[in-house]
Amino acid sequence: MGIQAQSAIIAASLLLAIAINVAFQERRVEHRWPFVGLTGAFFLYNLCFFFDAVTGADGWRRALLASGVLVALASLSFFRVFIGRRSMAAPRRVLQGLLLSTAVVVVTDLALSTWMAYAVAVVALGAYGFAHLQLYRHWRAIENPVEIRRLRYLVVGGAVSVTANGLDLLPASGLPFPSFGHLFTTLYLYFWMQVIQRSRLLDLREQLGRGLALVLQSLAVSLIYVALVIWVGQKYGLFVFNTLVAGVVLYFVFEPIKRAVEVWVQRLFFRETHALDAELTALQRELANVINLGDMVDRVLERLQASRRITHASVFLLEDEGRAYFMPRAVGPLELDRLGVVRARHFLDALRGSPVLVLDRVERARLDAAHDPERRDRLGAVRETMLALSADLSFPIRSGERLLGFLNLRDDRAREAFSSAEITRIKQAVRQMATIVENSELIERLKERERLSLIGELATGLAHEIRNPLGAIKAAGQLLEPDELGDEQREFIEVIIEESDRLNGVLSQFLDYARPFRGTMGTLDLEVLLQRVATMVRTEERDPPVEVITEVAPGLPKAVGDGDRLQQVLLNLARNGCEAMEGTGGTLTLAASLEPDGERARVEVRDTGCGVSPEVRANLFTPFFTTKRDGTGLGLAITERILQHHGTRMRIESEPGAGATFAFRLRLTEGAPDRLTGEHRRRLAAETA
Ligand code: ADP
Repeated sequence: MGIQAQSAIIAASLLLAIAINVAFQERRVEHRWPFVGLTGAFFLYNLCFFFDAVTGADGWRRALLASGVLVALASLSFFRVFIGRRSMAAPRRVLQGLLLSTAVVVVTDLALSTWMAYAVAVVALGAYGFAHLQLYRHWRAIENPVEIRRLRYLVVGGAVSVTANGLDLLPASGLPFPSFGHLFTTLYLYFWMQVIQRSRLLDLREQLGRGLALVLQSLAVSLIYVALVIWVGQKYGLFVFNTLVAGVVLYFVFEPIKRAVEVWVQRLFFRETHALDAELTALQRELANVINLGDMVDRVLERLQASRRITHASVFLLEDEGRAYFMPRAVGPLELDRLGVVRARHFLDALRGSPVLVLDRVERARLDAAHDPERRDRLGAVRETMLALSADLSFPIRSGERLLGFLNLRDDRAREAFSSAEITRIKQAVRQMATIVENSELIERLKERERLSLIGELATGLAHEIRNPLGAIKAAGQLLEPDELGDEQREFIEVIIEESDRLNGVLSQFLDYARPFRGTMGTLDLEVLLQRVATMVRTEERDPPVEVITEVAPGLPKAVGDGDRLQQVLLNLARNGCEAMEGTGGTLTLAASLEPDGERARVEVRDTGCGVSPEVRANLFTPFFTTKRDGTGLGLAITERILQHHGTRMRIESEPGAGATFAFRLRLTEGAPDRLTGEHRRRLAAETA
């Protein structure tokens, strides 16, 4: 069996695999069926070539020539569909001629003459060459740079494939020439498969490298085997023995050989990948000891630069206010050093939803989205931002849903400069960056909390310090004899005493707010509590008067809480309610009822005053927020804190102008549900109905 026949049968099996792979591919494949047709035709051609060479039977010769014509037809049809040009539609007469010649070849004995074989070979090669000429023209005419790069490999590969197939005719004419047309064309069609499946070009290179490693490994193993077995000659016993020895030797040396070949191919084929990998490994080791963001950015950029794989690199981090991302440092010139979240929202959304943005994929997706204008515009905006950021790749630095920042990379010496394996490798490092950013945020927050608690302590100390001289000022004012003063001076003294009192009130409230909560929980009768507060409020004279009423559900079980503190809460709310009705008068209601769950009481303070506007409501519990001339703005803040310690919170219902209700829930003493009285059940049923 000649070398041509051998390569033909190998090519046939590979082509069959390619055709089946594409036919049953789940991913989107462009021009799937014309391509399957082309590989199928080449498969048949190689198969027939093999059997023709091995058997020399007439039937196989006829089949071979017919499959040659099929290759011509399939090439014309695939390239026409791929290029999408009408000019390539073969004239009807040419097609008729081809079909006719197929018939002649298959049926008549003309097929068996040598010149017919040559004629068919020339026709097939001619059609194949013509199709590639059109591909070349198409390539010269396209404008999309991504497409140009993708097709460049194919144009060159196609030229080699046509030439190699032409040269294959030489041995048939008696000229000595090694035949590699079959295998080369198979390899070429494999590349086509990658292109119509829209894989990235660098990945092809990577696959090529892996293929080479595999071939070299097999070669090394075969050499060892052959060396050990070959000198055995015809002696059967020795053959078995040596095969065994070869097996054992291979068992031990296979792993080291495999690794050595891999390293060697890596160095040779992927020297740059190797360098990048080494730098990233070193970077990750360094990052394990970094907590400061500035250090992190420095290390990352230095290592990337040292890999010599980038011309541009930048890290953007979220600003404190969250309105923009800022860039602390970059390698290479950059248009932007700050990116507003509104302007770049499409880019940022895309980053949030994907582990990496690759510029050439974005471009390709945008071209594919011609029929979906909204998607096309969105991808266009993403592309613009990436260009402005000098980013071929953008990696999100994420913490859960939050986008803390991103890393941009570009190598402007090459497009599609990073392979998928490299991108995956970089992703690992970026994940580590996210952890550092998260930790540094945490540390900042802790520092802030420490700072606040320090300020709190200082303020409490200050308040105590102010109180003593304040007492002295007031006492001094009171000591002056009013009779000895003029009217105006007496007024001044009154102001001093009044304002000292007011300031003292503010300080007391502030200290109350700042003091750690030290309540004693006990059981309390809400009816008694509400009555007491109502009485206290009634004694405070108001003009026009405010009617104070209490509504307590009869038989309400005792509640759990700190009586003194809750009295403070209710008094606070009641006074606020009365103040809200200043100038108008109205009704203040203190109410306690049973919650539908039967386990808690609902306590309410209702007024018919001015109500709470949305702006006021947003700041209600902020210390020192007040709308009153004499207010301290601490009442509700203190109230909130006390309720927090009771495991409950304030609910506010209000319509501006129609009064306000401040309500909270209190846990009832154990076993309350069992102690529900008949009255309770009836009321509850009425309430929930
Ligand atoms: P202060 O009473 O000293 O102003 P608070 O913390 O008790 O401090 O109240 C803060 C603000 O909330 C008040 O200034 C007032 O504007 C608003 N507010 C509180 N209670 C009511 C109410 N019942 N009706 C309308 N506004 C209220």
